[in-house]
Amino acid sequence: MSKEEATFEDVALATRHGKEAAIAAHLRQVGLLITVPPDFPSDDFGTFSGERERPGSQFETAVAKARKAIELTGLQKAVASEGAYGPHPVIPFVPLGRELVVLLDAATETVVEGWWSGTKTNFRSGWVSSLEEAEEFAQRLGFPKHGLIVRSGPEEFEFLKKGIVTHQIFQESVEFLLGRQQRAFIEADMRAMVNPTRMSAIEQATRDLVTSLRSFCPACQSPGFRVREVVRGLPCSLCDYPTEGIKEEVFVCRVCQHRECRKMANRESADPCYCPVCNP
Ligand SMILES: [Zn+2]
Ligand SMILES: [Zn+2]
Repeated sequence: MSKEEATFEDVALATRHGKEAAIAAHLRQVGLLITVPPDFPSDDFGTFSGERERPGSQFETAVAKARKAIELTGLQKAVASEGAYGPHPVIPFVPLGRELVVLLDAATETVVEGWWSGTKTNFRSGWVSSLEEAEEFAQRLGFPKHGLIVRSGPEEFEFLKKGIVTHQIFQESVEFLLGRQQRAFIEADMRAMVNPTRMSAIEQATRDLVTSLRSFCPACQSPGFRVREVVRGLPCSLCDYPTEGIKEEVFVCRVCQHRECRKMANRESADPCYCPVCNP
């Protein structure tokens, strides 16, 4: 065993949806080897299709999953991820996704996190009233590369088929509902193992976690020293008026609360087009 291999540490991964595909290789770079407990009870922590409510905020839920994985494996550390998808707060009809990956250390009770957020997602749903319409909509959701859900209505469980990845099952489910209620409700299945777009978002969040794990607090040397606030007021390059532009980023340590303001690189002033005085 080489010296480097000797420093590897086993950590549990809370998943039953194959997330190790997005996570394991990146964590290996920082000496963490993933162990997946068998039959992790993922659904206890909420489902995208709504059978189970998420027990807390996105962050609380991710940490609760990690804690469960620690309990199931007896390891000291665990990784868990939690996604949140919904309408974009600013751009109408555009979905916004936010993925969080956390590493919980039960010995020190510290959490280091990684985030991804963006609009690259197939999180969409809608009614169809013919098989042709259904197939057209399915294609827009990336089917069959992405799994689908066909159900009797939004947030309805009376007829609910998840993880559909074959045309045959898709057609049968849609035709059954069309025959019975003249329409069917289709949505993207957001579970990672049937949603490569989401899997790649989780991978991006894992990269961010790795960056975070490599960033140490200058005061207490804990990992996870990262930007948590920004200071606005970047001066206008023409008149010096403080604009909404970001002037400084504030790095904060969650362990000892040490804070450090760092000026944005290559950003001394704001373009006058963002200045409320020069461009009212
Ligand atoms: Zn610190
Ligand atoms: Zn100005």
